[in-house]
Amino acid sequence: MNNLISIIVPCYNEEAAIPYFYDAITQQSELMREKFGVEFEYLFINDGSRDKTLDILKKYAELDLRVKYISFSRNFGKEAAMYAGLKNAEGSYVAIMDVDLQDPPHMLTEMYESIVNDGYDCVSTRRTTRKGEPPIRSFFARCFYKLINKISKTEIVDGARDYRLMTRKMVDAILDMGEYNRFSKGIFGWVGFNTKWLEYENMERVAGETKWSFWKLFLYSLDGIMAFSTAPLAIASIIGFLFCIIAFIMIFVIIAKTLILGDPVAGYPSLVCIIFLVAGVQTFCIGILGQYLSKTYLETKKRPIYIIKESNKGEKD
Ligand code: UDP
Ligand code: MG
Repeated sequence: MNNLISIIVPCYNEEAAIPYFYDAITQQSELMREKFGVEFEYLFINDGSRDKTLDILKKYAELDLRVKYISFSRNFGKEAAMYAGLKNAEGSYVAIMDVDLQDPPHMLTEMYESIVNDGYDCVSTRRTTRKGEPPIRSFFARCFYKLINKISKTEIVDGARDYRLMTRKMVDAILDMGEYNRFSKGIFGWVGFNTKWLEYENMERVAGETKWSFWKLFLYSLDGIMAFSTAPLAIASIIGFLFCIIAFIMIFVIIAKTLILGDPVAGYPSLVCIIFLVAGVQTFCIGILGQYLSKTYLETKKRPIYIIKESNKGEKD
């Protein structure tokens, strides 16, 4: 155990936000150093930015020994950046924060107190509002959380942010999950531990733009469902079973009608509809199988989750 708190900060094209973040976090660090006697390291992960993010990080690293940076060879995504951060953090306590100040630094004080005094392993945050977000996005987000909590055993909290402070034990548990398809919101829930939830209202970004388009979020939510539930795989069996029953009933009805009424069966249009329907359902189900298969394929390749190009920190494996 040391008295170091590591702050992991994923950055992707964030040249505008970093100075604001640095000022805010250093202020908070000073407060906590005086109050609790803790030290800090800021571990910035440059996730293949194409702007001046890396230059700015290098400048800060020269001025302040607490600033560490890891720079990826390309954009690997926020999940990979968080994983790299967790792997390279040295503190007994580790926090994950966005650089855009949507995660208020002053909450770190309360988080630290809850862990040290009340015996929690992790203090997480969730936003109670989705202010400043397009309504359609909020609607789909809510549907997603309802759905995934129905079909997955792992609890995935609606509105949960990645902003959290964790103990070393929990970080090590997360690192043991070396899967390639990382969906952190599920991983944090899956590892368990005592988690306290703090709530706050959504804040607007301090500078720069969000990196998530609707389409990106949609794909990410599919990743989440597939990483933490196998329920979609059962859809094929359920629908197949239902169709068998319906088919049996229809056969029975047709035979009865022909025998009793001598009714010739009128056919072509209804047949075409049925063929289309069954073909559609089958292709859909094969598609679901394909999705799981492709994820399994990627996992078996055991590709690295990220590749470091440069860093001012000795890399740990
Ligand atoms: N981010 C990243 N890699 C990416 C996308 C985002 O490291 O491919 C970082 C980004 O720099 C920011 C954090 O993840 O610090 C959250 O991103 P953003 O603010 O765009 O997401 P939002 O808050 O809108 O959900
Ligand atoms: Mg943000």
